[in-house]
Amino acid sequence: MQMRQCAFCGKMIAGHLNQCPFCREMVPQVPQLRLSRTSSGAGGGQIRRGLLYMLLAGVIYYFAAGYAKPLEIPITIQPAVVNYLAPLLFLGSLGLTLYGLILKAKS
Ligand SMILES: [Zn+2]
Repeated sequence: MQMRQCAFCGKMIAGHLNQCPFCREMVPQVPQLRLSRTSSGAGGGQIRRGLLYMLLAGVIYYFAAGYAKPLEIPITIQPAVVNYLAPLLFLGSLGLTLYGLILKAKS
């Protein structure tokens, strides 16, 4: 169920209620969720996802290349993973980020 904050007493109330059950104030139905969704706009999701994957690629590369020696990982990673997969993931996420930026620029 959607929860939202009462503007008068600050308590969390059910989203479908028009009146706060705690302070009995009328709470207007404000479409806050719709507003925040449009303000983030198209492409924002792609950029965020792209940056996340880039970070992930960096983490994979960091561990696989053996920079984190004190933190030994239980599985041995094939060199192919480091040589191909990590840069591939990095480039893919870079593309996704750029795609998101283009979408944002268009809108
Ligand atoms: Zn209230």
